[in-house]
Amino acid sequence: MAKLLEGKPLAEKIKEDIRKQAASLKNKPVLASIMVGENAGAAAYVKSQAKTAESLGIEYRLQSLPQDTSESTLVELIRKFNSDSSVNGIIIQMPLPVNIDYKKISQFIEPGKDIEGMHPANIGRLLFGKAKLIPCTAASAMELINASGIDLYGKEAVIVGHSEIVGKPLALLLLDKFSTVTVCHIGTSKAGKLEEHVRRAEILIVAVGKAGLIKGEWVKEGSVVIDVGINRVADKIVGDVEFETAEKRASYITPVPGGVGPLTVTMLMRNLVEAAKSQQ
Ligand code: NAD
Repeated sequence: MAKLLEGKPLAEKIKEDIRKQAASLKNKPVLASIMVGENAGAAAYVKSQAKTAESLGIEYRLQSLPQDTSESTLVELIRKFNSDSSVNGIIIQMPLPVNIDYKKISQFIEPGKDIEGMHPANIGRLLFGKAKLIPCTAASAMELINASGIDLYGKEAVIVGHSEIVGKPLALLLLDKFSTVTVCHIGTSKAGKLEEHVRRAEILIVAVGKAGLIKGEWVKEGSVVIDVGINRVADKIVGDVEFETAEKRASYITPVPGGVGPLTVTMLMRNLVEAAKSQQ
């Protein structure tokens, strides 16, 4: 039976370090958060970010803009935060109204303040193995893999899902540790090859958003399984991996909820303090 890789206790440990680092800075670190329009999910996320920030000695400066905000107004605000030396990091909350293109807008954030690690300059640093600001969900998955104690060198790592926020950055992070990395996606499934790749995985990371996509019986005996997926099924939150069967085969597995999720806000705050350290 697999041991559970739980995010909360790990987050608490990392938070202790963030708290110490925040306190050792000359000025209290400041996170500027931009929310456009009204959205219940985003509002709840912002509340939890603000609470976490406060508990770590980080000032959370929320700027709400109306639903009909134009791209140029948003860019103006980003530029204002870029040039405000008291602001150490900037986050744009999702979802954005349909008239605003996140990819375009996020490139206006000064790379040193891009605490989501999504600016092309930061992605470039990731490619060179020199990243300080790593996309938060990928960083969370790496923390959980490391918590399992597995030696990544030469291991077969299979990632299912190739999004910019999870699969692609994780592939780079695992390559840096000399894992042999396979990235699967919809094309892999359409070609009927998903099962054969998953069966080889000594480290399996799944970030798709389809409940039960990964059959428990495909999971390799003794593997480490990180399930990033979040799906609502009959009022319950489940991941992408069939947990009950996978748990019997893996050596370590993340629960959903309670695995990757609780770590992501902590990774955001770690990036913020990292950014503040570089700036101060
Ligand atoms: P996305 O929606 O941008 O991309 C989905 C990926 O899955 C793509 O690579 C696509 O090719 C692949 N895919 C789709 N159908 C597939 C299939 N049948 N077989 C194989 N691959 C398939 O993904 P995302 O934004 O990275 O999110 C993925 C999941 O992770 C979602 O459930 C999301 O809610 C969750 N997520 C969780 C956290 C967290 O904090 N726990 C953070 C981010 C995302």
